[in-house]
Amino acid sequence: MKSVLLLTTGGTIASRRGTDGLCPQMHPDELLAYVEGLREYFHIDTRELLNLDSSNIQADEWLTIARSIFEALPKYDGIVVTHGTDTMAYTASMVSFILQYLRKPVVFTGSQMPIDNLLTDARNNLYTAFAAVDCGIPGVSVAFNRKVIAGCRAVKVRTMGFEAFESVNAGYLGEVFSDGMHPNVEIPDALTAAQPVRLCDRICRDVFLLKLIPGTNPEVLRLLRQLNYRGIVIEAFGVGGMQFVRTSMLEQLKALTEEGVSVVVCSQCLYETSDLGIYEVGTKLLSCGVISARDMTTEAVVTKLMWALGQTEDPDEVRRIFQTNYCGEIKLA
Ligand code: ASP
Repeated sequence: MKSVLLLTTGGTIASRRGTDGLCPQMHPDELLAYVEGLREYFHIDTRELLNLDSSNIQADEWLTIARSIFEALPKYDGIVVTHGTDTMAYTASMVSFILQYLRKPVVFTGSQMPIDNLLTDARNNLYTAFAAVDCGIPGVSVAFNRKVIAGCRAVKVRTMGFEAFESVNAGYLGEVFSDGMHPNVEIPDALTAAQPVRLCDRICRDVFLLKLIPGTNPEVLRLLRQLNYRGIVIEAFGVGGMQFVRTSMLEQLKALTEEGVSVVVCSQCLYETSDLGIYEVGTKLLSCGVISARDMTTEAVVTKLMWALGQTEDPDEVRRIFQTNYCGEIKLA
């Protein structure tokens, strides 16, 4: 029988209706009472880490979650973390970077409906998460709607529907069919070297995400410079373009990178890669010294930049980190 630790952090799955709307209130054993059959298949320990709506989960909570997982890993075959769905992709991405060389399964899950509702998706999502541990799907993943998605590839795409998460630019790590879980795991290069799991938990919070609109005021970048951000992610148009006619941001951008700020450009499109070399509106960006995020999700870019800036103060090293695939977050070449 496999030993699994259930860490709970809140979210809809644990919510009840209060005077101001839904808020997390249930404790781990109350959650497990709704999926009691699990205890016949797994030895389960529980620990309540937090009880927050995931909108309130920020860098401090990422560190609490990652450190708790790291401490518990030697004792368990895998860990299931319940978490609100709204920012689960950020947490799963960040934990993917913090826990380097992770081989054991660490599976995030949650639900669109509280677990005490008869129509809830919570029970299925928990079963899928435990099945992912049972199959030994390595590293950080998100289990939702009978699918298992790499933590650094998960994006929340629906506010209400049960198919709330998609695996962006990567296949599922597992999928449940009528004959059980079908794992489909490609082990990233970094994991094939037999290294023990490492906790790399220095992160930098001075990262800003700017989504361009047609005609974004370039003064925004000047203000970001004044606020001393060390990293800026720009969600550019299409395959990677930014306006330079009338409202050019190029000058401010160049000043930022020359001052040592790391600027990473990704696409506003959910699917497929960005390539700044295709259009003039992209090559002008490249000549300002920005880094291309290629096919990474915005959530993975933001958390990787925070993590990279925690590892080094050298912008060239940040660039090198972005040209490295740590957990399947980027396709290179
Ligand atoms: N607002 C909730 C949260 O992210 C939504 C959910 O869990 O589905 O905590």
